[in-house]
Amino acid sequence: MANKIKKIGVLTSGGDAPGMNAAIRAVVRACKYYKIDCVGIYRGYQGLMEGDFEELNARSVRNIINKGGTFLKSARSMDFKTKEGRKRGYEQLTKNNIDALVLIGGDGTFTGGVYFSQEFDLPIVGIPATIDNDISGTDFTLGYDTALNTAIDAIDKIRDTASSHNRLFFIEVMGRDAGDIAFNSGIGAGAEEILVPEETDGLQRLIESLKRSREAGKLSSIIVVAEGEKSGKNIFELAEYVGSHMEGYDIRVSVLGHTQRGGSPSCFDRVLASKLGVGAVEALLEGDSKIMIGLNHQKVVRVPLKDAIDGEAKYDKELRRVANITSV
Ligand code: ATP
Repeated sequence: MANKIKKIGVLTSGGDAPGMNAAIRAVVRACKYYKIDCVGIYRGYQGLMEGDFEELNARSVRNIINKGGTFLKSARSMDFKTKEGRKRGYEQLTKNNIDALVLIGGDGTFTGGVYFSQEFDLPIVGIPATIDNDISGTDFTLGYDTALNTAIDAIDKIRDTASSHNRLFFIEVMGRDAGDIAFNSGIGAGAEEILVPEETDGLQRLIESLKRSREAGKLSSIIVVAEGEKSGKNIFELAEYVGSHMEGYDIRVSVLGHTQRGGSPSCFDRVLASKLGVGAVEALLEGDSKIMIGLNHQKVVRVPLKDAIDGEAKYDKELRRVANITSV
């Protein structure tokens, strides 16, 4: 792998996700393996513009593979959206002899990276990290599996109380405009109904399935609602709507919120982070740039960043079919 890259910078940006630490670790260790230097950039693009850097060696990243969050911290930076801000970032990189960047984050992070790379001809590689699993070109983003397991664990616990009191529980899960967490946690936890942003008939389906389940003698139910669901009602309004249209339910609402962002990454996310981190460094050393390292059918793949940002949402009709069949 002969290449002019001698020093790689790594940063985490946007919403934090479990597995980011494991990815930083893999990048740092891959740099050590290939005998190049690695610099950690604190607070995402904000720290990049401010020169908030620290040289990292293999020992700097010990004991972090199992930790949630990101020790490099993350940030959302308005300044980096300006050309002037990005120029300041580039000046900091040249001052510190950093030849290439690994960006760990979501589509916003990748968008900023593409502008940056075009303006300054700097090699960049992205690692998809967001609990929402809303990036094209990869089957999974870092943090999604952990968030999913956190959600299902919480729903299981709520089920215990729901069935003890014959209650109807509305549970909101994260995912922004992607229904992956909702669909999979809903099916996995045996939810009565699942409302996701990719569908528009959620409210009507919900009422019909509650009627059906009442006729079938079900006394308690769990409804999983994605935060970006498109009925036009928030989860409290949804619960009220059902309460006013259907008699006799003892309805409760639970918003799982940021618990889904935290916690120790699952084994799946740690291994994924390790594969993607190594893949990112190897791609840069092989002269690749403006790509995302993703996972496609178990294989590590390189996807143009533009496709990762602009691609189609991954709505899986099979999940709807299975959810309908298993909730009868
Ligand atoms: P998540 O999916 O978890 O929100 P993200 O990477 O999409 O992660 P954003 O806040 O959208 O999170 O983006 C992270 C950062 O990337 C922004 O704070 C900003 O600094 C930079 N960024 C986003 N969009 C652009 C853009 N159009 N131009 C330049 N920089 C951008």
